Amino acid sequence: MEKITVRTGKRQEFFDVTDSVNGVVKKSGVNSGVCHMYVPHTTCGLTINENADPSVKADIISVLEKLVPEDGRYAHSEGNSDAHVKSSMTGHFLCVLVEGGTLQLGTWQGIYLCEFDGPRTRQIWIKVMKQ
Ligand code: ZN
Repeated sequence: MEKITVRTGKRQEFFDVTDSVNGVVKKSGVNSGVCHMYVPHTTCGLTINENADPSVKADIISVLEKLVPEDGRYAHSEGNSDAHVKSSMTGHFLCVLVEGGTLQLGTWQGIYLCEFDGPRTRQIWIKVMKQ
């Protein structure tokens, strides 16, 4: 297993990790297979979405904030309940096919670590498997 460490800079942001994950894929030497990615955290997530227009990321964050506001009424007393909920909404796990030694993403797709309670140091655990 490989680990990528990410230092996020805001309370909420989508941090592009596509190049870093592709670096792990190349280092693995796997030409054809699957790349598994996992975040071992309870207030961030992983997703794939558009990598061209940054307003798409802003829109997703804005919609999640409307659905699950930071200042909503929650039982959890740590003050980051919205981040826990958003983390479960985005999920912690991604799987992308690898061919030709590189991630097989659509033209407009990027891989994002979704920060909901930053700034924090986050990890992505990655396993590239030959198939
Ligand atoms: Zn908490």
